[in-house]
Amino acid sequence: MKMNNCDAWLFTSRNEPRGYIQPQTLEELWFHTGTNCNLRCPFCFEGSKPGDSRIEFLTLDDVRTFIDEALDLGVKTFSFTGGEPFVNPNFLEILALALEYRPCLVLTNATEPLMKRMVDVQRLRDKPHALKFRVSLDDPDPVKHDELRGKGNFSKALTTLGMLYKAGFSVSIARRMLADEESAVVDKAYVQTLRTVGIEEDITMIKFPEFHLPGSLPHVPEITENCMTRHLNAQQRENFMCNFSKMVVRKDGRCGVYACTLVDDNKSYDLGATLKGAMQKRVILGHHRCYSCFACGTSCSEGD
Ligand code: SF4
Repeated sequence: MKMNNCDAWLFTSRNEPRGYIQPQTLEELWFHTGTNCNLRCPFCFEGSKPGDSRIEFLTLDDVRTFIDEALDLGVKTFSFTGGEPFVNPNFLEILALALEYRPCLVLTNATEPLMKRMVDVQRLRDKPHALKFRVSLDDPDPVKHDELRGKGNFSKALTTLGMLYKAGFSVSIARRMLADEESAVVDKAYVQTLRTVGIEEDITMIKFPEFHLPGSLPHVPEITENCMTRHLNAQQRENFMCNFSKMVVRKDGRCGVYACTLVDDNKSYDLGATLKGAMQKRVILGHHRCYSCFACGTSCSEGD
């Protein structure tokens, strides 16, 4: 039987129905501030680099519209990712607005764009809601981090992380997770590194496997409807980001609501122009990154 493109998306190569998530309530709304970044990391799963405009700068008006809609839907937090959010010229205003309504999380490489705005950032402590930063530290070894991110950037990121912490902001880190690593050993090395800038408490470490560049099509097992109930329980299915979050992305001069933070390189995951509409749409788990969520419980969410 010949399948059209839509059917091909709904069924695996063996003609079995693909697994899906039917979103429930919108708890987290993410905003993609744009793929322009001051760094040029060769592994970036967003393909971000200086001047990149695959995803355009979000504007204050864009964000205002979606904040209003998200509040009506009962959203609990706003999160911001890029690119480097502080490269977006509108970002401080955007963040100041969001902090009037809900706690916010900002993902950052914690280098010059943030360092230059530290005074303004510190003023945001006076806002009604808390601000948290997640800093990218790819490896606890400065040499390995800098091989990927550029010389001197480990020191800048770590110093800035320590400054944010001392200023009273909550912090976490995002790190790469290699397939053959001994995670407990690597985690311990991070704890020692964080102590050097005065972070003694256990902080959240979000670990990301290899996600490949945008548009890549690595081979991964396909997820069927049957897999979703045979291998996962109800709680595990609820934990999928696409169940409780969405991401606003500006492309080609308009904003679209994407299923989650990991699939903005595939138009099938643009679920339309409104959050309400997007939350009603079934998310088909056909992106290769969906397999990380299925097999490892990968998530950008910190759940707090
Ligand atoms: S990458 Fe994960 S969260 Fe995103 S659509 Fe796929 S399964 Fe859902």
